[in-house]
Amino acid sequence: MDCVFCKIVNGEIPANKLYEDDKCVAFYDLAPQAPVHFLVIPKEHIESANVLTEENAKVIGHIFCVIANIAKKLNLENGYRIVNNCGEDGGQTVKHLHFHILGGKALSWPPYDKSAEV
Ligand code: AMP
Ligand code: ZN
Repeated sequence: MDCVFCKIVNGEIPANKLYEDDKCVAFYDLAPQAPVHFLVIPKEHIESANVLTEENAKVIGHIFCVIANIAKKLNLENGYRIVNNCGEDGGQTVKHLHFHILGGKALSWPPYDKSAEV
């Protein structure tokens, strides 16, 4: 399967890893959108949040605990944002479930600009 995140899991391509265990990997995003920007992915190939089931979704709770632990290590005590882009309209480009963690500054909200509508 030609999945860039599976290749990171398998060690076929390098990543700047922050954390790894038997269920997930955390690594810095190649194109950071905030002073701190890393991704956490399940090792299992799950295409998106839209194909989660009671069986394969157990890893999500684990991933959120991992995120909280990494955030403590990176001194993100002032807060951060966890983002999941799901499907085409959600802006998902890599079809392997992943969570973006963005922090290191106060982030703007909302991400959707209604005034830009035509
Ligand atoms: P998304 O648009 O939500 O699918 O996000 C995919 C993210 O993966 C983007 O922020 C990319 O910069 C990031 N990305 C793609 N390839 C790599 C890679 N090899 N190592 C680290 N981050 C990557
Ligand atoms: Zn994959």
